[in-house]
Amino acid sequence: MNEQERQELQKKAKDAEPANKRLFKQLKQKSPKDLDQTVQQLHNQAFEQIDCTNCANCCKTTSPRFIPKDIERLSKHFRISPGDFTRQYLKIDEDSDYVLQQTPCPFLGTDNLCLVYEHRPNACREYPHTNQRKFHRHFGITLNNTFICPAVYQIVAQLQQVYGK
Ligand code: SF4
Ligand code: SF4
Repeated sequence: MNEQERQELQKKAKDAEPANKRLFKQLKQKSPKDLDQTVQQLHNQAFEQIDCTNCANCCKTTSPRFIPKDIERLSKHFRISPGDFTRQYLKIDEDSDYVLQQTPCPFLGTDNLCLVYEHRPNACREYPHTNQRKFHRHFGITLNNTFICPAVYQIVAQLQQVYGK
């Protein structure tokens, strides 16, 4: 994703934000039984069309949260101590979580491939959370991700078609 595409996504997400907030409020009240299944289908469709290696916007603009197991695994991979890994790459954010000191992620290759794919943090494995069960727990983060991830923007736009008034 280039800068122009990034700005276009942010504008579309901003325009859609009020309707998306209404949708999530409505889904919270009604909690449809088929919600997880519907989101999973929309997730699969979106990622059949969108190639993450042409995008990498999540890796370029946001940081995953690093839990102790991630730090342990990555420091082993780099053959340095967890303390050195933390000092070299991480900082503590306002939620007291370990996150990257800078974006783009230093482990993103120039070909948009993750250089530590086998060892990447759990949060990277789960991103953008639209194929996880109990989707209703991820409404807040999903709304934020409509500004970052074109697949999430598309999934939420299609959720509007299925459940929106
Ligand atoms: S998960 Fe979303 S933001 Fe990240 S690379 Fe794939 S399409 Fe882009
Ligand atoms: S560790 Fe890999 S998948 Fe995670 S943000 Fe960095 S480049 Fe992306």
